[in-house]
Amino acid sequence: MAINTVPLLDLKAQNNYLKKDALKVLKEIISNTSFTRGPYVENFENEFAKYIGVKYAVGVSSGTGGLQLALAALDVGKGDEVILPVNTFISDVYAVLYLSAKPVFADIDPDTFNIAVSEIVNKITKKTKVIMPTHLYGQPAGMDKILKIAKDHNLKIIEDACQAHGATYKTKRVGSIGNMGVFSFYPTKNLGAWGDAGGITTNSKKLATDLKVLREYGESKRYYYEKIGYLSRLDQIQAAILSIKLKKLDAANKQRQKKAVYYNKIFGSEVKQISTPFVLKDSAHVYYQYVIKTPRRDQLVNYLNKHSVQSGIYFPVPLHLQKSLKGLGYKKGDFKIAEKTCQEILSLPIFPELTQNSQDYIINLVKRFFKN
Ligand SMILES: *Cc1c(COP(=O)(O)O)cnc(C)c1O
Repeated sequence: MAINTVPLLDLKAQNNYLKKDALKVLKEIISNTSFTRGPYVENFENEFAKYIGVKYAVGVSSGTGGLQLALAALDVGKGDEVILPVNTFISDVYAVLYLSAKPVFADIDPDTFNIAVSEIVNKITKKTKVIMPTHLYGQPAGMDKILKIAKDHNLKIIEDACQAHGATYKTKRVGSIGNMGVFSFYPTKNLGAWGDAGGITTNSKKLATDLKVLREYGESKRYYYEKIGYLSRLDQIQAAILSIKLKKLDAANKQRQKKAVYYNKIFGSEVKQISTPFVLKDSAHVYYQYVIKTPRRDQLVNYLNKHSVQSGIYFPVPLHLQKSLKGLGYKKGDFKIAEKTCQEILSLPIFPELTQNSQDYIINLVKRFFKN
């Protein structure tokens, strides 16, 4: 079968449909020149809060900025410790370091890829202030147990929901379970803007108010500064695009789930050599990534590549072995499960517009690879 390259994600297909609506709002924003603050930002904040099922959403300039602000709103600083998974995105650690606090890694669960709940308890000290689980790849972390630990030890929870827009845990959407949820709207995410953008969700009026002060220089009244703040705004153009796309998010997530079920079914019965994503009971994975595991990962990447299928590795190196974090003093062997997992994981294409033809093509390649 002749086929063009199958990309890991097709942003063109995803963004074409909204061109008309987008041009209309762009014209309006240009004509009234309210580029930063304004009704599009407020509208999106209200819509997103409602969608996630919380009282407040605060737009920010990126997921990274959101993590930093969320920690700042909890007064995290020097001498405080924050527990986070060792296989997540780098900016989770940086956010902690920006506030002069200490990131403390926990190993991951080899099946769900999320923070190993049993590990969290071992990492708690008198200095621990926050647990920051990531809902990695779109799969909710085990929040019931994390909530219990936080309650027992009087800790706060910041959910990194940057990969899990719309995912549900039991009856709740992620981002509505801890004290705050942080979202990235980077263009490739399940809900993506046309540039950098992010948001923080919370049920606390105090936190929402503080976050709004923190995102604009710590300003309480024009040119009066209450505390040292940041500059991390969501702008009007990004907010307008996000409002248009939010309406399509559930349908797009359903498409991802349908494709995941199809992969699972065929791989589960015909390709025993790989493990397919673990399905947590009572939760809905939104498959930002569809991640399989195989010890022959690198050969499979090459094979797919040779046959014009792109794949991805998130992430190839666990955080404790990153050069930029050498100063934290971790070494190889400290997180054995994450180290092994990073060598075996592979993301296959799963975007909503992936055609049946392309998915069958990928599946057949994987089958053929393991027959040899
Ligand atoms: C994308 C991402 C971030 C950072 O978001 P940006 O908007 O790129 O700053 C943080 N954590 C996770 C898990 C992510 O996937």
